[in-house]
Amino acid sequence: MRCCRRLALAAALIALGACSTPVAAPAPHAASSIVRAEHQMVVAAHPLAAEIGRDILRQGGSAVDAAIAMQMVLTLVEPQSSGIGGGGFLLHYSAGTQALESYDGRETAPESANRWMFLGDDGLPRSFADVVPGGLSVGVPGTLRMLELAHRAHGRLPWHTLFEPAIALAEDGFAVSTRLAEDIADDAVLAAQPSTRGYFFNADGTPLRAGTRLRNPALARTLRAVATGGADAFYRGSIAADIAAAVDAAAPNRGGMTTDDIAGYQAQTRPVPCLDYRDARVCAMGPPSSGGVAILQILGMLRHFDLGAMPPDGIDAVHLIAEASRLAFADRERYLADPDFVPVQVDRLLEEAYLSSRAADIDPAKSMGEALPGRPAEASLLGALPARQAAEPLSTSHMSVVDRDGNAVSFTTSIEGAFGAHLMVDGFLLNNQLTDFAFAPAAQGRAAANRAEPGKRPRSSMSPTLVFDRKSGTLRAVLGSPGGANIIGYVTQSIVNLVDWRRDPLAAIAAPHFLNRNGPTVLEEARGLDALQTALMARGHKVKVQELNSGANVIVLDGTGLLGASDPRREGIALGD
Ligand code: GLU
Repeated sequence: MRCCRRLALAAALIALGACSTPVAAPAPHAASSIVRAEHQMVVAAHPLAAEIGRDILRQGGSAVDAAIAMQMVLTLVEPQSSGIGGGGFLLHYSAGTQALESYDGRETAPESANRWMFLGDDGLPRSFADVVPGGLSVGVPGTLRMLELAHRAHGRLPWHTLFEPAIALAEDGFAVSTRLAEDIADDAVLAAQPSTRGYFFNADGTPLRAGTRLRNPALARTLRAVATGGADAFYRGSIAADIAAAVDAAAPNRGGMTTDDIAGYQAQTRPVPCLDYRDARVCAMGPPSSGGVAILQILGMLRHFDLGAMPPDGIDAVHLIAEASRLAFADRERYLADPDFVPVQVDRLLEEAYLSSRAADIDPAKSMGEALPGRPAEASLLGALPARQAAEPLSTSHMSVVDRDGNAVSFTTSIEGAFGAHLMVDGFLLNNQLTDFAFAPAAQGRAAANRAEPGKRPRSSMSPTLVFDRKSGTLRAVLGSPGGANIIGYVTQSIVNLVDWRRDPLAAIAAPHFLNRNGPTVLEEARGLDALQTALMARGHKVKVQELNSGANVIVLDGTGLLGASDPRREGIALGD
């Protein structure tokens, strides 16, 4: 089980400590513990990234500086999940001015993209697994442009400094973690693709094992170029040419990305939607992510029910959360997409009167079954096909940071599925984020809001989130998780755990998961939820039990200091001073 991998990872790191590593191997950490700090904290998906993030803070770096350095390390040590070949969303809170900003580094579709790109010769949508590997699914990466934009606004240490730890680690090598080794071994395509076979497999064709020391000199060269040349070194010149050539020549699934597509990429800042929930104010990522709007809609509906008076994880509360989630997912399917292409009326979707009318559709005693989208006043008539309900790939990464001055970063970053498009260029993997577009361009005569178009950003579910005290405005929590569309459920549940049930940060993210994406109510397997399953079925829910591999990383500010926790289902840790 993935939840048992942390100790094995710690052991592998200790073993590596005997070699000359650029960073001291992290001290073994107690699995599933809360870390307390007074001044500053990072929580990231891999101990080496967290170590380096904390080092950057110790050097006087800002929260953004730490996030940049950690992203570079994660590109190396957690390559299956995120990296400079992908994209992400970053929320920033400035303690001094109390300003809140969101940075959109979502990938864009190249000019060659079109609404029919994921249809087969028969005119029907191709299968997800069929279109992922190769060039067709690759979006123009956004991570580095976005981090550069955030660094210009909030960086304190020089840009190049933030790359040095990852460059050293790429040259000297790092120990393959248990999770990375398992993900390599589990992947059916990785060995077949020439660019990944040579890196993730031994010469005899066997997958790399946990503890193997892995070097990545190609990535070291790439990071060195970006360290000295800025993001331009990635978006113009030989790296961009290599990306375009790899996408163009990919087999299967040739793509069509040009160096102009790459040079033209622009990161954006976006409005930050917020909503009052009990004594908290929750702020999240707006479109092109659907995550923030969906989470805030669910919470806005749940305001009408006193969850705090109900037993945590009990049938009454789980039923209500599942029903509110159905309604939010129905709206998500209809209305949420790239706001540069589709008018997304976030304010109307979050209006109190609208959410009250939606909440009134919830019967506390009986499931409504499949929810239909609502009609917020003047809402766009664009629509989409139902979401794919496939198992989520084990990818994406979330990091939370609070620096010495109280500035915070909540950053969710992704190459979409595990190992992205399975194309490796200059030491990093390219994303398959375009598969987040609707595969069918229209349904029932209605254009899909999230259909593929040139230059468009595919709709995301990534949900970096910040929670404030409603009265005082002080920051209370920094959180987020990987998990594809399940992110919405994971983050919502964590907020309910913190705000309604006053759970500690670890319990808030470690509690057994339940969620609903407007289909069956999904319960996390092997977590003792059998009684809940029976009770939900009695209320008319279809129930599915499966592994739910979240990877939430949270920092809670309780007025006396910082409390950090990392999801025991993955390998992350919290570190602070
Ligand atoms: N591509 C997904 C999104 O943007 C994230 C994938 C994942 O979390 O596994 O919503």
